[in-house]
Amino acid sequence: MAMRKKFVAGNWKMNLNKQESEVLAAVLKEKMGVCENADRVDVAVCPPFVYLPIAAKILSGSSIGVGAQDVYFEGNGAFTGEVSVEMLKDVGCRFVIVGHSERRHVIGETDELINQKLKAALEGGIEPILCIGELLEEREKGQTEAVIERHLREGLKEVSKEQMAKVTIAYEPVWAIGTGKTATPDQAQEAHAFARKILADIYDESVAQATRIQYGGSVKPNNAAELMGQPDVDGALVGGASLKVDDFMGIIQGGLSPQGSCGCGCKSGS
Ligand code: PEP
Repeated sequence: MAMRKKFVAGNWKMNLNKQESEVLAAVLKEKMGVCENADRVDVAVCPPFVYLPIAAKILSGSSIGVGAQDVYFEGNGAFTGEVSVEMLKDVGCRFVIVGHSERRHVIGETDELINQKLKAALEGGIEPILCIGELLEEREKGQTEAVIERHLREGLKEVSKEQMAKVTIAYEPVWAIGTGKTATPDQAQEAHAFARKILADIYDESVAQATRIQYGGSVKPNNAAELMGQPDVDGALVGGASLKVDDFMGIIQGGLSPQGSCGCGCKSGS
């Protein structure tokens, strides 16, 4: 079985001010710096656009990557309000979230637009985190697998097998995001295994086994280890809990725990 390193990313969404962003990034860097086995898990934070340069500067020289929450697919020009891949790279971004459920369902982004953004990120050298996942009504109608399959097939259209090495998938059931209602470990595992099956069908078994699939939706320190202990759950995309450094560290510890504690006591938030 492929050994996939766990990947925990914090999505700050439209939260925090400049000073709070600075403090969160600095304290996170400090705490990660004393986690002996922190290199066993990849960690990134995704602040709002305006705080990306600040976070990147504070986190430079640390193992913590910086990602954006969105990007536009065009290179430059008359696209008021948008931000390009080159701009994100310019301010130190390594990752970008595409297709987050809030962008799909609040802003109205389509699978086609998300696919354009994902391809632009890959072509420009930024690693996309493609969010997929069903609404509550879709789950209740038994459409979970159909939605996962559509989001993957449409989102990854024209993405090559080689490019998949830079893609992370985040399964985020919309009913679990920001609601405090987490998918059970079994529900997460079932959805992740299905997503991996679709990746094998689109590409092949080696791509399916190598691709990291994060779980997102009310991940907290008290459920992180069990969720990430599932065989097909390769990390977490964390919203609310990524804004509190002790909670985020507790989740990172959950990503380490199936392989043993990092020994730094960060689980208790020290
Ligand atoms: C998210 O924003 O991707 C998310 C999973 O949010 P939360 O952890 O708050 O549910």
